Amino acid sequence: MPAPDSSAQKRDDDAIDRHNVHIIKLLKDIDFESMEADKTLEWAAESIGAGRVVLNTSLQMAGVAMIHMATNAGLGIRIATLDTLRLPPETYSFLHEIEERYGINIEVCTPDAEKVDRMVRRFGEFLFFDGKHLQDHCCKVRKTDPNNELLKTADCWISGLRRDQSTLREQTPKATSVTEHGSKRRILKLNPMADWTQERLQSYVDEHDIPQHPLYAQGYQSIGCVICSTPTLSGEDARAGRWRWFNNSDELSAEDAKECGLHIPMYNI
Ligand code: SF4
Repeated sequence: MPAPDSSAQKRDDDAIDRHNVHIIKLLKDIDFESMEADKTLEWAAESIGAGRVVLNTSLQMAGVAMIHMATNAGLGIRIATLDTLRLPPETYSFLHEIEERYGINIEVCTPDAEKVDRMVRRFGEFLFFDGKHLQDHCCKVRKTDPNNELLKTADCWISGLRRDQSTLREQTPKATSVTEHGSKRRILKLNPMADWTQERLQSYVDEHDIPQHPLYAQGYQSIGCVICSTPTLSGEDARAGRWRWFNNSDELSAEDAKECGLHIPMYNI
C-alpha cells in the first residue's frame, strides 16, 4: 500500500496531467492566430479566469495598449511588471502614471535580494559588460527567476512580443505553452499583438490617447534596464539599442545578443 504522501503526490501529478491535456487541447482547438488582441484578452479572462491570467509588461507600447484594452473592457486580469532594480527612473514614474490613469494596481516582481547580492559580490554590478554569459546570468537573476515565481501563480501568461521587433521574433506564435519552472505544469502563453506592426501599434496608441513611456521621446525603441537600453539611430533595428556593446560581437550573432532569456526556449521555464 502506498504511503499517504505518495498517494497525495499521485493526485497532484494526475491533476497536472489533466491540466496539461486541457492546455494542449485549447492550443489545438482554438484559432488564436485569427483572433484580434482585444478578443484574445477577453477569451483569456473568461476561459482561464481573470485571477489566473497575468499580463506581464515592461510598460512598453504593446503592453500598455493591452492594459488599455483589458481595463476598458473591465476584464480584471492581473497586470505585473518585473522590477530588476536597475530600471530607469522614468519607468518607475511611468508605472505610477499608468496605475493612476487606469485605476489599477500593478504587481511589481523584484529579484531575490540574496541572489542579487551574491551575484554582485562575485561578478560586480556591471557584469553584463563582460560577456554574453554574464549578461544572461544577470538577466536570469533579475528577470527570469522573478518571472518564474510569478508564473507559479498563473495559468496564462500574456506578453507584448511582436514579430516585427527582430529577426528572432519573426516566428512568434500568438499562442504556445511553456513549462512552469521546477514542475511539469504547462502554462498557456499568449502573444495577442504578435502580428501588429509598429505602425499599427502607434496608430492605435495615438487614436486612443494611450500614455507612452517617456523614453520613446528620447529615441528609445526598446526599454529595459539603464545602461543595457540605449536610444537607436535612424534605420536601426528596434532592439539595436539593447546591450549595444554586443552589436558587433564576433562571439555570437547580433540577434542572439538581443534577448534576455525571458522569451526564448533556453530559459523558457
Ligand atoms: S538588462 Fe542588463 S541590468 Fe537588466 S537584468 Fe539584463 S543584464 Fe542585468
